Amino acid sequence: MKKIRIAIDGPAGAGKSSVSKLVASKLNYSYVDTGAIYRSLALAAAETDGECDSAELAEIINHFNVSFKMIDGINHVYLDGSDVTNEIRNERISMLASKIAKIPFVREALFRMQRELGEEGGVVMEGRDIGTVIMPDAELKIYLTATPEHRAKRRALELEAKGVSFSMEQLVSEIRDRDRQDMTRKVAPLRQAEDAVVVDNSDMNLEETAEKIVQLARERE
Ligand code: C5P
Repeated sequence: MKKIRIAIDGPAGAGKSSVSKLVASKLNYSYVDTGAIYRSLALAAAETDGECDSAELAEIINHFNVSFKMIDGINHVYLDGSDVTNEIRNERISMLASKIAKIPFVREALFRMQRELGEEGGVVMEGRDIGTVIMPDAELKIYLTATPEHRAKRRALELEAKGVSFSMEQLVSEIRDRDRQDMTRKVAPLRQAEDAVVVDNSDMNLEETAEKIVQLARERE
């Protein structure tokens, strides 16, 4: 059996991370969260004066050292050896990651790093442009999506668990705005690869979604 490459792309809130991690664990593949790479770069940039001009970003990229380690089902992210797993998840870093992800030379620099992570196969890589740009020759490409209402509902459950108050209408509208921004940017916009299998998990739970992808993978191994 050959170990294939699986690309999982899709909009925010479709459950890419949870699904990708579970698929990787079921297949005994490695898992790469490319969003965490953009987020770590954003964190490194935020630790300077926060202006993020091109020269500063280029300098940061030259010394950029990010690595991952799966510990007890949690994908730990390390920047220069320090564990930044939680730090990269706040709203400020999300916004900055999305801002620097629009810059062509940043994408170009991170392209090589992501390519290398997928080279050996036996990998589940998730992001926005994995099937279209990073691994266009992946044996299995999934476009994972759900309606904005379902995605907002999942986000609501997460916020509820954290005790954060929110309005459902506002969550749906934020998700629609983020979709628009990711899909309309000039470089590597979020779009479905022509040969991607669309999985709409609006009415599927995590286990069902992962199982469906594992089945598709097994057909290609
Ligand atoms: O997936 P996540 O929300 O962690 O990604 C953070 C940001 O990084 C996204 O908002 C997106 O703009 C950017 N990103 C990207 N291409 C990827 C992965 C993430 O542009 N392959």
